[in-house]
Amino acid sequence: MRVYLSVDMEGVAGVVHVDQTRRSGHDYERARRWMTHEANAAIDGAYDGGASSVLVNDSHADMRNFVLEELDPRVELISGSLKPLSMVQGVEPGFGCALFVGYHAGAGSRAGILDHTYFGKVVARCRVGGRDWNETAINAAVCGAVGVPVALVTGDSTVCAQAREILGEVETVSVKEAVSRYAARSLLPAAAQHRIRAAASAAVRRARDGAFAPFRPPPPFELEVEFANAACADAAELLPGTVRRSGVACAYRAGDAPALLQVLRAWTLLGSTTLT
Ligand code: ZN
Repeated sequence: MRVYLSVDMEGVAGVVHVDQTRRSGHDYERARRWMTHEANAAIDGAYDGGASSVLVNDSHADMRNFVLEELDPRVELISGSLKPLSMVQGVEPGFGCALFVGYHAGAGSRAGILDHTYFGKVVARCRVGGRDWNETAINAAVCGAVGVPVALVTGDSTVCAQAREILGEVETVSVKEAVSRYAARSLLPAAAQHRIRAAASAAVRRARDGAFAPFRPPPPFELEVEFANAACADAAELLPGTVRRSGVACAYRAGDAPALLQVLRAWTLLGSTTLT
């Protein structure tokens, strides 16, 4: 079974602050190694569970975070930016399941470490069909559009709860519990990696037994975003098909999940040009 692995950073054990997740941050060089080793744990687990190959996508910020000398050499890696499907670039029919590691809660969550949805400075809230959708939901829908189910989500306890609410009984590993947006009670990296390996193995084994269904909500997808301010919405409104709902909110009816993701990415890129 081919396995797809998308790895973000905010949901990695020990990470609680942007000083760890930004390239210019003081602790970034250490946090990127924790991220690399959580990916390795998921890769080990995937092979334990019967994977034939693993494709890894670096899904954080500029998407050049892994320490390649320390990443499991059995995989192939997608890295760098810009990627049309961003955090799920490279997913295609034929993968048996997708694993999301180091994920975080959606913008506007309470007690979610570094919660945001695709671009925190631009997107204050993201809803689809009237429900809050975080990156797990959006990315799972893109995977679902090509028939690939999500089998594992790891991150803080808030994103794990959100994942189960959206996707049902997927495997989850809570590596930390948020005390507030920038504080957590966390497992240490080695303990988190141990649990992630076991859960990835169980996830792939269950996927081989057909335990997970692709996440395929019926189209169209009614996307509504509340932006950080009206300038971001002014810029987003430049995209044809965008409907301005209020000073800070825009809406778009997308025909499928990849289009939904691409509109959200276009809006965030447009909105980011207004940041002062
Ligand atoms: Zn990230």
